[in-house]
Amino acid sequence: MARLVEIASRSRATVGDAEYERRLAICSACPDLQYGTTCRHCGCLVKVRAKLVESTCPYPYASQWAQ
Ligand code: SF4
Repeated sequence: MARLVEIASRSRATVGDAEYERRLAICSACPDLQYGTTCRHCGCLVKVRAKLVESTCPYPYASQWAQ
């Protein structure tokens, strides 16, 4: 997984550790996280998606990552 995060992060802006952990904590508690790894709405591995600044949470009608 770390290798996937590294590959996806090349040439793209990434969030800091605190924001990354905040996003992952929200995903961990989300009812739409499947298999402990994958967002039901976008099919993304959340450990990869959460690392990128440009990413948003695709939860319908309201991002769960919004601060
Ligand atoms: S809907 Fe948002 S909070 Fe839920 S698993 Fe997907 S990215 Fe994470």
